[in-house]
Amino acid sequence: MSNGRYNPEIPEYPAPDPTVILPAAPADGWEATRGGRTLTADVVVVGTGPGGSAAARAMAEAGLKVVLLEEGPSTSRFKPNQGQTARYHMQEGGGMVAKGATIFPIAAGRGVGGGSLINSALSFRTPKAVLAEWESLLQDEGWGPAAMGAALDEVERIVGVCITPDRVAGANNRLIARGVQALGLEGGLAPRSTPGCAGCGICNYGCPSNGKASSNVTFLPRAIAAGALIQADVKVHAVLVEGGRAVGVVGESFHPDTGAPVGSVTVRAPKVLLAAGAIGTPRLLWHSGLGPTLGPATGEGLHIHPGSAVIGIADEDILLWRGATQGAWFHHPDWPGVLPHTFTAPPEVCLATLGHVGPRLAEGLALLPRLCGLIVLVSDKGEGRVRATADGRADISYRFAEEDFRRCKGGMRASAEVLLAGGARQLTAPVHGIGVHDSLESFAAALETRTPNDFTMYSAHPMSTCRMGLSAATSVIGPSGEAHGLPGLFIADASIFPSSIGVNPQLTTMAAATVIGRRIAARG
Ligand SMILES: Cc1cc2nc3c(=O)[nH]c(=O)nc-3n(C[C@H](O)[C@H](O)[C@H](O)COP(=O)(O)OP(=O)(O)OC[C@H]3O[C@@H](n4cnc5c(N)ncnc54)[C@H](O)[C@@H]3O)c2cc1C
Ligand code: SF4
Repeated sequence: MSNGRYNPEIPEYPAPDPTVILPAAPADGWEATRGGRTLTADVVVVGTGPGGSAAARAMAEAGLKVVLLEEGPSTSRFKPNQGQTARYHMQEGGGMVAKGATIFPIAAGRGVGGGSLINSALSFRTPKAVLAEWESLLQDEGWGPAAMGAALDEVERIVGVCITPDRVAGANNRLIARGVQALGLEGGLAPRSTPGCAGCGICNYGCPSNGKASSNVTFLPRAIAAGALIQADVKVHAVLVEGGRAVGVVGESFHPDTGAPVGSVTVRAPKVLLAAGAIGTPRLLWHSGLGPTLGPATGEGLHIHPGSAVIGIADEDILLWRGATQGAWFHHPDWPGVLPHTFTAPPEVCLATLGHVGPRLAEGLALLPRLCGLIVLVSDKGEGRVRATADGRADISYRFAEEDFRRCKGGMRASAEVLLAGGARQLTAPVHGIGVHDSLESFAAALETRTPNDFTMYSAHPMSTCRMGLSAATSVIGPSGEAHGLPGLFIADASIFPSSIGVNPQLTTMAAATVIGRRIAARG
């Protein structure tokens, strides 16, 4: 079995080392903002996800005074249910959708640690071909495979990337790994930043056993140790501009349970770094009226890694909600840019995904223990855009490209093959009218007849909405991270990717933000 190296040049992964997980970073909550709060810093960072955290750590360790502002709560409100997670730890209460001919729910995390609090921690490095393209586009070796490779090495060590151990993998991941091995494909148990994983399968609600190396227990404690301060429960709504430069931000603090406003928060700093995520950063820019200042590319070029799922039915109990969340993957040579990995979901989500509700509930409950599954992620050619509504919510649209739909179906067919080779006996999918099939041929034939609107689609990987580039006509920031249209304003989150990367984005976000943090620090 492969050791999970999507890029063959990567060295072997080390054994899991739970000591990389530090005590959670302390953050001030709403109580500190009663009557308003004004702070000064060298750099104010908006957002504490992988991007904001990694940049803050790099800048604080280089001696800059850093203040981070975060909309989500100061401590984890973890409970193992979707309602609680959506309320406290998902942006816009988990209700963001990209509209177009097909509707895509878009998930993004919220809280001290951002998306890393609720993500599955799959940790793939940026493919070398993508970095070579960035180097050429940006005419800057710092964004090429060698320099970014070093940054990826560094962040991999900080978050303790290791291959999911077999002892915590669970039956679903093992079935997939078996299928991958039987077919001789690249893949197997997956690299994840979960060095203390106990295999409970609920990463998407948070980690109850402190086994996941999310940003609140890796980058942020390092930033705090170097003098940074985190103020949570604050939603930033404007960037302060004076004399043609960004000089700080203004936000409103609120009670995390009632939503009641508490006070105004201002941070004045000669450098402002936005890291509110690929939806949150353009949403803030457009809502604060800076969209036109930053140029025509602001909020444009959204990529989302669209995807759907394939569900197998095995003879024996799988209990796909148990075992390391999304702990297996594979790559099929016929489908470059398509990255299938484990479908992990709690029982109620499995039933809803397959439409086993109402009169079909009893049928679904009977099948539930024996379900196994893969989701398919497509490196997309389709693009969308992000704007803000008058009340500051995201207004997202997306055009699903015909080619991406074709590759999604191809990845689903390959996934079906893997599930059968691993031990599944029947196949279905969250696709309207597809039915249940006993053979790959019949499943693939049914898949071919379906149109995009038949598919239940999903995305948790928004990217590329404030791209890095050389021209203000097609990008928002330059290779230094600074905005073309506003000196003093920097961006370091998944919005800066010049293209869709084709792998889960957290490692790339951490590495890119580290590079930008260091470039800011080098300017003093
Ligand atoms: C359910 C789920 C599963 C995922 N699984 C994986 C995976 O297995 N592997 C992987 O690599 N990636 C995964 N991802 C994607 C990954 O988590 C994101 O790509 C990553 O978190 C992006 O980091 P970021 O810093 O750009 O933004 P985010 O993580 O979105 O952080 C942005 C932060 O800014 C805050 N914010 C937003 N607006 C404001 C404002 N106006 N004022 C103050 N604060 C604000 C938000 O609350 C949030 O905390 C997953 C994502 C989700 C949601
Ligand atoms: S599977 Fe469970 S124990 Fe493992 S990292 Fe995820 S939430 Fe933590």
